Amino acid sequence: MTLEMWLAAAIGVVVGAAGMALVVALMKRRASDEGGNTTIPHRTREVLSALQSGSIVVRRDRRAAFSNHTASALGVTRPDGALHPGVADLAEVAWAAEQVVEDEVEVSRGVLGASSIVHVRVTPLSNDLALAIANDNTEMRAAEQTRREFAVNVSHELKTPVGALSLLAEAIEGNADDTEMVEDFAKKIRREARRLTKLIQEIIEISRIQGGESVIDHEVVPLAEVVEEVVEAAQVSAEARDVTVVADVSASPTVMGDHDLLVMALRNLVDNAINYSDRGSHVTVTLARDADTDVAVLKVIDAGIGISTENQERIFERFFRADPARSRETGGTGLGLSIVKHVVLQHSGVVEVWSKPTVGSTFTVRLTIHQEEQ
Ligand code: ADP
Repeated sequence: MTLEMWLAAAIGVVVGAAGMALVVALMKRRASDEGGNTTIPHRTREVLSALQSGSIVVRRDRRAAFSNHTASALGVTRPDGALHPGVADLAEVAWAAEQVVEDEVEVSRGVLGASSIVHVRVTPLSNDLALAIANDNTEMRAAEQTRREFAVNVSHELKTPVGALSLLAEAIEGNADDTEMVEDFAKKIRREARRLTKLIQEIIEISRIQGGESVIDHEVVPLAEVVEEVVEAAQVSAEARDVTVVADVSASPTVMGDHDLLVMALRNLVDNAINYSDRGSHVTVTLARDADTDVAVLKVIDAGIGISTENQERIFERFFRADPARSRETGGTGLGLSIVKHVVLQHSGVVEVWSKPTVGSTFTVRLTIHQEEQ
């Protein structure tokens, strides 16, 4: 086979069925290259340039005879033909084994940038050339890492209430004759069961929202209705904690999105404002329209315990609690703000926090107003 035919066959393996017609056409063409010649025919260059993946024709001297733009964007080749050592090593393995080899190489992105993970598959074409196809796996690896961490955290979080339930059941068994104690333990069991239910619901919610595919129901949502619904629903828990929750609606913008998800996000913010406020305190939910940027601005303002500057950076992480004891006392799961962040992101909005310990916190959500409204 000529060099061009080898390249065509290798690309065929990589690009799959869609590229096969092109590959077959290429294989039918006779290239003038013979063994030992490392010149890449013009037609082959065109095909390699058009690939979405990074493509590099590797020479025996560990340099690139050809590489496309994606390969340099991925950082596996330089314009002077220098190769990432990981790719060159992989090509040597492929030549030695006389077969296709693949692996991931880490590409450093300067001093400040995080490194990226690039998957490289090398096919030996001849004694002198090999074809390397490179794809960015960074996001996939990061997502896998997040999933692994999430699974570990979930099992840890579930163990706490389940452990408490089992201890409380034992306590009832040991005090079966003492009605007062049994009642007290039963009350605690109910509280732990509620906590467990909330935790499971929120785990399901966050897995759904983060699942990748869009969960947005795409309907026109009047935000004033969302505010009204949330403020009304919050009254019971607010009264129980002697906190007043009021709405201050000065505009009636609508957004495209999912009514239920927006209610859930705002509810989480209002619940937190109530839970992290002292008795007798006020919580205000405002809805306005930013005249400069023409976006809808929702704010949940409390005069509660506040959040330190270091913790403000972490509160949107899953299972992060600034004060685990207080969060436990209020039945918190550490997932509320993470759900808020993802719901807002799904609506292409932003959520920000301003807070000062002992003074209070303001959570601001900005959402794009639905076109017809603008
Ligand atoms: P939780 O279920 O623990 O409330 P969240 O994800 O909703 O979890 O919030 C994470 C942490 O952020 C809370 O544990 C709390 O420490 C802090 N936090 C959230 N909202 C407020 C607020 N309005 N005032 C003070 N601290 C807050």
